[in-house]
Amino acid sequence: MKKKISKTKAEQQIKEFFNHLKNKKTKEIKKIKRLAMSYNIKLGKKRKLFCKKCFTPYQNPKIKIKSKIKSVECENCGYKSRWKMK
Ligand SMILES: [Zn+2]
Repeated sequence: MKKKISKTKAEQQIKEFFNHLKNKKTKEIKKIKRLAMSYNIKLGKKRKLFCKKCFTPYQNPKIKIKSKIKSVECENCGYKSRWKMK
C-alpha cells in the first residue's frame, strides 16, 4: 500500500514532521527517514535532532564540545554522535 506523492509534498511532510519531532515515536522517525530516502531528500541538519542508532528524538541530550568536535549522547541508548563544528 504505497501512496505516490510529489517530491514537494514529501518535502513539506518532512518539514512538518520535524517541527513536531519531540512528540514523535521512533517508528515514525524511521518511516520519515525512509520517505526522505525514497525521494532523495537530504535531511541535513535535521539528522542531528534524533539518535541515528535508536531513532529517538533528542529531548535533553548530554552535549560535549571538545576540540571542534561536538558529541551528543543519546539519553535512550547512550550512543554518541559526533559532528565536526565549523
Ligand atoms: Zn539512541
